[in-house]
Amino acid sequence: MASTLQDVLLRVKEGADIVQIVGQYVPLKRAGSKYLGVCPFHNDRHPSMNVNPRMGIYKCFACGAGGDAIKFVQEFERVGFVEALRLVAAKAGIAIPEGLAFGDKEGSDKTAAVVQANQIALQVYVESLDKNPAMTEYLKERGLNRETVKHFQIGYAPESPDVILQRAQAKQVPTAAFVEAGILGESGGRVFDRFAGRLMFPIFNLSGRVIAFGGRIPPGKDGPKYINSPESPLYQKSRVLYGFNFARQAIDHSGEAVIVEGYMDLVSLWQAGVHNAVAVCGTALTQEHAKTLTRFARKVYLFFDGDVAGRNAVRRSLEPLLTQGVEIRVPVLPESEDPDSYMRKNSLETLQALFASAEDLPDFLMKGGMRSRGKTVETLSPEEKDAMLKEASEVLKHNPSVEVREEHLQNLRKRLGLRPAVTRAQPFRSVGNAGPSSGPGGSLAPTARVPGLFLPGATLSVRSEAVREWQLLQLLLSYPDLVRSAAEKMDLGWFSDERVRDLFDHALALLAEKGELSLREFRERVPDSLQEALASLEIAEGDPPDRIARLLADCAAAVESRYLRESLGTAAPEQHAGIKKRIQELNTKKP
Ligand SMILES: [Zn+2]
Repeated sequence: MASTLQDVLLRVKEGADIVQIVGQYVPLKRAGSKYLGVCPFHNDRHPSMNVNPRMGIYKCFACGAGGDAIKFVQEFERVGFVEALRLVAAKAGIAIPEGLAFGDKEGSDKTAAVVQANQIALQVYVESLDKNPAMTEYLKERGLNRETVKHFQIGYAPESPDVILQRAQAKQVPTAAFVEAGILGESGGRVFDRFAGRLMFPIFNLSGRVIAFGGRIPPGKDGPKYINSPESPLYQKSRVLYGFNFARQAIDHSGEAVIVEGYMDLVSLWQAGVHNAVAVCGTALTQEHAKTLTRFARKVYLFFDGDVAGRNAVRRSLEPLLTQGVEIRVPVLPESEDPDSYMRKNSLETLQALFASAEDLPDFLMKGGMRSRGKTVETLSPEEKDAMLKEASEVLKHNPSVEVREEHLQNLRKRLGLRPAVTRAQPFRSVGNAGPSSGPGGSLAPTARVPGLFLPGATLSVRSEAVREWQLLQLLLSYPDLVRSAAEKMDLGWFSDERVRDLFDHALALLAEKGELSLREFRERVPDSLQEALASLEIAEGDPPDRIARLLADCAAAVESRYLRESLGTAAPEQHAGIKKRIQELNTKKP
């Protein structure tokens, strides 16, 4: 009897180990009968996502993302349902019968044909390399052995697209899918291979599917050194790291990752025995790359070319990595070398020594500062040292940890031969006793310690006078049904913290439109600039209604009264009496 989609789905759902599937993308820690991990669907460094193996589901308490293993793969890999089902089934060792009808699920899955197109092209490219002695010889000259070429499935794109077109026809994949995948191009009614005559490096996603290609020009040919697949629903170069599928385990094990700039750099390192390296594909390192990588790595080596361009690329990569709070090291190559050329001349031991002597961040910043001024520590003037410290603070400010920033700066002072500075960072204070210095426009006191308001370890800075505003927002997001009508009566002008004002505004708009407040939908609507603030906020649960009502009245009164007190400064004198009366009312209304 033929299986139906329902049968297969049931078998996959029962057979799939959600801990294994999710764990492939996000490190998970056991917590009782469940597992905890950092949610990949919102900006966070805290384990707010839990995975329940008994029920086969995951759920993030910060952003609301949740579902089964198939849903997780769908969201993470950004593929359609059918493709996600295939991936999960393969992991669970469940065969999907040939010719299974996916019904309307298939129509919605535009990625499936593109996935197949990439796979067909990969097969053809790998086979063509075998049939091309000149190319095989060239790879050998470059120092790559057969095992390496096989491991990375390096291939060769033939001059004519015929083989691909024949395969496509046999497998009933439309030519349009190859065009969409950026494998074939069309010009004047003729179809051609965009990569014709190039060495092909397939780019895989974390589950090992090919999603794009990088094509390198062989020697003696004209054209750009590399061309890459265009962006597609499957492939966004700002998210994907080349080689991550091979390196993930080693990175997870060691907690360390090496970032290089080129496919050949990565392949050479792998062959030499360095298995925790990834490469960016024709783009600068982005926040998304850094986020993906630092889910597994706590220490990152930026291993770039030894020339000025390489050093500049290191500099550009610092911000996204620092934002993730990861430790950074910079192994420095001789001026004329890149990791690939270096590996061809040196042993793994030499490389390890180079890594052991890698510059740390203060070192890198200091050498950069001296180089651009053409000076040494001895010849730098006090003003130049000052300027260098300022430049360094500009870079270091992206690290969320005050302690690490201070440590790096003190370190730098020491290396510049300066005395340690009296620490300028305010000691952490809880907001309750923020003291007299925190008037309007005053200091930004971190509020991570306000119990229950922000997630543990949150680094958001909030003025103490705005804490009640954040509490109002928290109440609205936690208990929209109970808080909505009161919230709609509030004036957005009361809020002194723009972030609260905007988030409040977005939440009320969503409530007005949908009649309910789904946190997941809310998160999707909130602009990037507010995501961190939103993710830091603890969403409360299960408070008794009378406590919520009391807290709500309390916060609303405090927020309005702060606003009124401030408005006294600009209000016309004849209004003062009225405003003062209202303030008094608000102050005595306390339960
Ligand atoms: Zn989340």
